[in-house]
Amino acid sequence: MTENTGSNLGVLGKKSPRRSGAERVVNAPLPTVYGKFQAVGYLDHDRGDEQVALVYGEIGSENVLVRLHSECLTGDAFGSRHCECGDQLEAAMRAVVAEGSGIVVYLRGHEGRGIGLLAKLRAMALQAEGLDTVEANLALGLPVDARDYGVAAEILRDLGVRSVRLMSNNPRKREALVLHGVQVAEQVPLLIEPCESNITYLRTKRERMDHHLPHLDAVAHGS
Ligand SMILES: [Zn+2]
Repeated sequence: MTENTGSNLGVLGKKSPRRSGAERVVNAPLPTVYGKFQAVGYLDHDRGDEQVALVYGEIGSENVLVRLHSECLTGDAFGSRHCECGDQLEAAMRAVVAEGSGIVVYLRGHEGRGIGLLAKLRAMALQAEGLDTVEANLALGLPVDARDYGVAAEILRDLGVRSVRLMSNNPRKREALVLHGVQVAEQVPLLIEPCESNITYLRTKRERMDHHLPHLDAVAHGS
């Protein structure tokens, strides 16, 4: 983020406190069932979102194991089987602990691929009637994917990270990080065993959003 240094000079010639981008505001220990993380809290001055990165161990600057997890209330907190988000979050936290160090950036404002909770629930209602996840968003006049990863890149940079091993099946996350100046040394698959409730959703992600999900080949087609 570039700061407009010309217009925010105060009358005393000092920079006004108005900021842009993600500001680190707090660092708190967070013991979890997976291990002891540090919760590093950020305020995104551009969008007003409160963000948090879970840091485990002594992270270096290169090839850091990282998950950018898009907020999903239904999957992460309620154990929804509509999607695989909750399992992916758990798998990512376990992987970081097993590795000995790494970061899970939990991206708020990404609910429903960026359309918001209520819109996501509306899209889920349409999917119960037979539309797929892409068609449902479009039927509501909403983008298929409205997520922005600029703040994630800012948080990683603030934590001193220059290159990551990105736990994701989504090529767009990789492209977005690179676009925002964070190198992706490797894309690490995060494959969750599908179940009856989410297999259609996962197939749509693979077929219509280019997600790399080779393990779905082993699951028979049918209703
Ligand atoms: Zn989800």
